[in-house]
Amino acid sequence: MKRISFEIGDVALGGEAPIVVQTMCNTSTTDIEASLAQCRAMAAAGAQLIRLTTQGLREVEALREIKTQLREEGIQTPLVADVHFSADVALAVARVADKVRINPGNFAPVHEDACRKFAELIEICREEGTALRIGLNHGSLGERITTLYGNTPLAMKEAVMEWLRMCVERDFYHVAVSLKASNTRVMVDAYRLLFKAMQEEFGAVFPLHLGVTEAGGGDEGRIKSAVGIGTLLREGIGDTIRVSLTENPVGEIEAGQQIVAACEEYGPWMDNLTPATRIEAASWNDFIIRGACAAGPALLDEKADDWDFSGSTIAGAPIPAERLEYFKDLLLQACRRRFTRPEYIACPGCGRTLYDLEGTFAEVKRRTAHLAGLRIAVMGCIVNGPGEMADADYGYVGEGRGHVTLYRGKTPVLRGVPQEEAIDKLLALIDSDRK
Ligand code: SF4
Repeated sequence: MKRISFEIGDVALGGEAPIVVQTMCNTSTTDIEASLAQCRAMAAAGAQLIRLTTQGLREVEALREIKTQLREEGIQTPLVADVHFSADVALAVARVADKVRINPGNFAPVHEDACRKFAELIEICREEGTALRIGLNHGSLGERITTLYGNTPLAMKEAVMEWLRMCVERDFYHVAVSLKASNTRVMVDAYRLLFKAMQEEFGAVFPLHLGVTEAGGGDEGRIKSAVGIGTLLREGIGDTIRVSLTENPVGEIEAGQQIVAACEEYGPWMDNLTPATRIEAASWNDFIIRGACAAGPALLDEKADDWDFSGSTIAGAPIPAERLEYFKDLLLQACRRRFTRPEYIACPGCGRTLYDLEGTFAEVKRRTAHLAGLRIAVMGCIVNGPGEMADADYGYVGEGRGHVTLYRGKTPVLRGVPQEEAIDKLLALIDSDRK
């Protein structure tokens, strides 16, 4: 099997290259000073690719300025433009960024128009040496595909294969692919299906960018990410990773590096199904990520029902039994084996977020901790949030400065709620539904 590889600036992606750890700014891209400061911190922490939101032409110009300044300072980290809906923005930024992330299915309402724009984009990328990522998320699939295949891992694979065929027909291979989902089961299945389909149809696999989207933050976000990403890395699938956390994105890099190190340490998981691992960790975060990478694959695939971490230590000290139990609760929930608390779906925030997402998410978690079994989403923006919160039962979605829309499932039920009242209203909505 051939693994396609290429370079983005001086970073090698795919083939036999080491796993690339990347992250994304949560600043407004047009706030050049704040974005520069975050890029510098990310580069210093070891980020190998940095993505910035590029929703319009003003952001394209800001990205140009950020790139120029970083290069003048000697920071060579390749910059990736994140474009969601506008083909024209993608065409413009392909002449500025080192890589462009798109979902071509969102380029135009009519599929043929989207195909024409995508073909144009390929030609600009070829001319400029710009790489592409085709990034489809569960929840942002177009109606044309979901009508044929449902909202399933199969639909995600089929959607991306259409665009990859166009790349192959045009002899363009500077392309990475992602198929993220918040649900680790859906995410792992989608990547596995795509990996197999690429081998069968092209005899080669395009580099894969792995991530569990809307993973939330803190321990849950790290464990969910380590389960999804670690399962695939340990079976040889994946070339670059992003751990999406609803917190300062600089922390995503350490989490990503810890996942890569753990997967290297434990190796292919099918070779070792002894349901016990004794971990000598340097810190709590190191422990939970290594634990999730060690046990997550077998638990997720139902090859084991439980895992024994007894004897594990952090900085040489034994881990108390109740901390181990707490970790196992989160791990089994991340593996979708046992649900003992609410499931949170929260985006990491980006330049589109116009409120204190991290603080709000922490408060929503604090006040809904008793609602085991419910899926609650906290999303940064109304543009992508509703689509990306997948199968949440309730959603808190930023609507613009100071206001929020509350969702029941996919239906907006309260619009324009002032932010200071929104958590109370969300709880009242949940309470009235449960009566
Ligand atoms: S849902 Fe969150 S991460 Fe996605 S575009 Fe909106 S604010 Fe940014």
